[in-house]
Amino acid sequence: MQVVLLGPPGVGKGTQGRRLASDRGWALISTGDMLRDAIARGTPLGGQARQLIDQGLLVPDAVMIGLVRERTLESDARKGFVLDGFPRTVPQADALDAFLGERGKPLDVVVALTAPDEELVRRLSARWECPVCRRVYNAISAPSRDGCHCDDHPTTALRQREDDTVETVKRRLGVYREQTAPLADYYRVRGRLKEVGGTGALDEVYGALVAAVAR
Ligand code: AMP
Repeated sequence: MQVVLLGPPGVGKGTQGRRLASDRGWALISTGDMLRDAIARGTPLGGQARQLIDQGLLVPDAVMIGLVRERTLESDARKGFVLDGFPRTVPQADALDAFLGERGKPLDVVVALTAPDEELVRRLSARWECPVCRRVYNAISAPSRDGCHCDDHPTTALRQREDDTVETVKRRLGVYREQTAPLADYYRVRGRLKEVGGTGALDEVYGALVAAVAR
């Protein structure tokens, strides 16, 4: 299956998407992780993306579309994929429809995870991630076993993302509202949108996500 997870920063797309992809044997395609990897490797893409990400702004559509078009052709995505963080604009959604349509394999479902802004700001400022496996923890609701190292990489210290500062989070939420939130209607009118509340316990949200994908 080919699934898009839509929703504001901090709603749990990464955490829930990772679990869904791993349970089903699908690829998790997180465009944010792809960009952060490019920055860490010092590639030209990373150079282009760094400042935009740090400011909470979007990387240009043409760059992102090319990246996802290629990534979705890789062998691990053949059985299925979960897209986390793409599309983020209407042109990205149009391009995704077009290139998947050309392959004769349209999107199966778009699941929008929802949560109020106060909850998102609270979660993002408590978010810590493992720089090795990208597993995400929350200092309040889902800490790692010792609170500062990854459970799966016990010698690796967790770190906070540079764009998770309060100011940048507010900018990212504004960008989301303006450019990405309209995609809910975009997919709703096409009959492909399912909505799942993202504020419950992790397992509860995951159960609702699995049910939405199965329906
Ligand atoms: P995320 O990890 O999904 O919150 O993404 C982190 C940052 O990467 C975003 O704030 C954007 O600057 C950039 N980014 C990720 N995905 C996209 C996309 N589909 N289009 C444009 N920029 C993106």
